[in-house]
Amino acid sequence: MIEVDDERRAELATRLEQVRERITSATRDAGRDEEPTLVVVTKFFPVSDLVALAELGVTDVGESREQELHEKVDSLREERPDLLKAPTRHFIGQLQSKKAKRVASLVDVVQSLDRPKLVPLLDAAGAERDTPLEVLLQVDLEENSQGRGGVAPAELAALADEVAQASGLTLSGLMAVAPRGEEPERAFERLAALRESFLADHPAARVLSAGMSGDLEAAVKIGATHLRVGSAILGSRPAAR
Ligand SMILES: *Cc1c(COP(=O)(O)O)cnc(C)c1O
Repeated sequence: MIEVDDERRAELATRLEQVRERITSATRDAGRDEEPTLVVVTKFFPVSDLVALAELGVTDVGESREQELHEKVDSLREERPDLLKAPTRHFIGQLQSKKAKRVASLVDVVQSLDRPKLVPLLDAAGAERDTPLEVLLQVDLEENSQGRGGVAPAELAALADEVAQASGLTLSGLMAVAPRGEEPERAFERLAALRESFLADHPAARVLSAGMSGDLEAAVKIGATHLRVGSAILGSRPAAR
């Protein structure tokens, strides 16, 4: 049974409101008219939190681990089928090739497409859907990168062209995480520049997913359309499980 504790619901409501206020001020400070979409990252937290957040008006949720995503979708299917269509589900984690197809069947948007090998796999999964699968290309903003997560900026254009040709996929935009050990402002400046040349080739792919609990203001400033916020709303996660 999915049971939502009253105390937890109140806590989530308070933190959600605080984050919404941060987003509103950041949007105003940036001189933007429209607020970015808040994607609440529910990884490591139980499906009851997802249900509570949906009931509090959250329209988008993010998950980063295939097994956990699968279990949550299964329990929604059994107990809360009304929540299967909305909130919109985003996959934001590193995508293993052998899990790509399954992940694609469980979400509305894959934000972490980062290498050519995934394109035919996601394309095949997309072809089995009523509408193409929406994807974002995850860009690696790390200087001197170890190549963990994200396509290198030099390889972005080629990957984007490949995705644009895949009939089972809709290329919706870009996603990035600000690297540790650097001011997020600087990393996001690089992202904004990359996005400008990307948009010249793919003008319809206007989604920009950037900004998390610690750096959402900096992301709003450079034009993020989607923010992925976890710990500021749900609390701190266990280091590993
Ligand atoms: C976990 C995660 C987030 C949320 O991070 P918080 O700092 O908890 O807000 C955002 N994006 C990605 C890719 C993540 O893995």
